[in-house]
Amino acid sequence: MRYDSITLDSFHTAWLPASIQAAMLRLDKIHPEISGNKWFKLKENINAAIAQGRTGLLTYGGAYSNHIAATAMACKEAGLAATGIIRGEENGAKLNHTLQTAASLGMELLFVTREDYRNPALKAHWEALYPQYLAVPEGGHNALGAKGCEEIISIFPTTHFTHILCAAGTGTTLAGLINSAQPHQRVTGVSVLKGAQYLEQEVRDLLHAGNTTPWELLHDHHGGGYAKQSPALIDFINTFYTDTGIPTDIIYTGKLVMAFRELLQQGYFPENSHVLLIHTGGLQGNLSLPPGVLSF
Ligand SMILES: *Cc1c(COP(=O)(O)O)cnc(C)c1O
Repeated sequence: MRYDSITLDSFHTAWLPASIQAAMLRLDKIHPEISGNKWFKLKENINAAIAQGRTGLLTYGGAYSNHIAATAMACKEAGLAATGIIRGEENGAKLNHTLQTAASLGMELLFVTREDYRNPALKAHWEALYPQYLAVPEGGHNALGAKGCEEIISIFPTTHFTHILCAAGTGTTLAGLINSAQPHQRVTGVSVLKGAQYLEQEVRDLLHAGNTTPWELLHDHHGGGYAKQSPALIDFINTFYTDTGIPTDIIYTGKLVMAFRELLQQGYFPENSHVLLIHTGGLQGNLSLPPGVLSF
């Protein structure tokens, strides 16, 4: 994977005080199908699969999972087979955009009921059906996933930033950022899940021993819960695009930038802060909206 298309974009908006600098690391531009952070979470898993002589990856996700589409693409590029265990029964005739993409890239899709999906005993059963495959947890949430994310802040020089902000789903990306940030930087994750206090421990479990970078996970910016939208969020995303030319998504990055504005209003950032926001991608998720709702 080449990173030439990724950019680091400084931006200005009416709500950004003159004393604070902000920039967006555009991982969304990395690849049309492997969006944003998903490639980084997969790369070390793919390398491990190849090093171990595995023939494919087996992974898990919901019907709208960016991770499923990204795994299909990454495996195709690496010459590995891919199977996705998909939560929820197959919806008769028509696959949604995410699953169509995955299937067209050669991923085998196995639909299981929500109940079966949650059953840990069945996980072992499915994985035993594919002994030659490397199993990767839902969302790419493992130590190899976090390791791959350590590369994110070294694509451009970023040590002059005082703060790094990212959206958190499983917290894997956040853990990789904390592991690779400098001790003088502060890393803040914005949970897009409601009441996901368990994430603190999951992030901690992925941190290198002795890491001293200050970090924090915020739980009050989920906008009603995972994938919940509001007219305020849609307005915000449209205005942010008009002001900066940066498109964001309704599930992760739109809420991240909205949280950034709220944190500024709360005085979270001292004067002269340099804030780096990580654009983790997810723009294809906007395809679930009716046409015309977003201005881009
Ligand atoms: C999956 C995803 C995330 C969440 O990443 P985690 O490592 O699971 O916290 C954030 N942003 C976008 C756009 C995603 O698709």
